[in-house]
Amino acid sequence: MTHAASRPRAVERLIQALATLPGIGPKTSERLAYHVLREAPAVARERAEAILAARAAAKVCSRCFNLDEVEPCRICSDAARDRARVLVVEDPRDVAAFEGAGYRGLYHVLQGRISALEGIRPEDLTVVALLDRLREGGVAEVCLATNPDLEGEGTAESIAPRLRGLGVRVTRIARGIPAGSTIQHVSSAILADAIDGRRELG
Ligand SMILES: [Zn+2]
Repeated sequence: MTHAASRPRAVERLIQALATLPGIGPKTSERLAYHVLREAPAVARERAEAILAARAAAKVCSRCFNLDEVEPCRICSDAARDRARVLVVEDPRDVAAFEGAGYRGLYHVLQGRISALEGIRPEDLTVVALLDRLREGGVAEVCLATNPDLEGEGTAESIAPRLRGLGVRVTRIARGIPAGSTIQHVSSAILADAIDGRRELG
């Protein structure tokens, strides 16, 4: 970003706004901004409006922290689901992945994972809300389905002891998911196997 001073302020604002997206460094945000400036106004407008519309429509479920257009989410309100099972995942995208794998219980979205590197602590996640949910009763099993990588395993190991004494069975998805891969990137069949092969924790 060597020519920041010579650029229109609005262009600089766009570059800064794009640079806050995950995985986008200063060079990429500059390249994307100049791409946007070259495209047809209607295309740029559609993108901007899509961002605003999604932001306005998506609601965080107060019960499971999944994203939906209604609150509570359609999964929490679905009476046909197995309400005795709760699958704990890191991210709403994982909910979509397990839905695709045929899972039909309830979920609890942690909204992240414990990470010393990123300064994310257990209290930054929705763990307290999960404990409150379990204290209300009706849940027989909590399956921890955080990613099978270092931070995902650490998150599961940190949450499991806090679930003891609540009268629920605590399980962890099987290790069938290839190391280094994530829940969002493996096939439905592998995810279904990971749930089927879940094991008792502690
Ligand atoms: Zn919900």
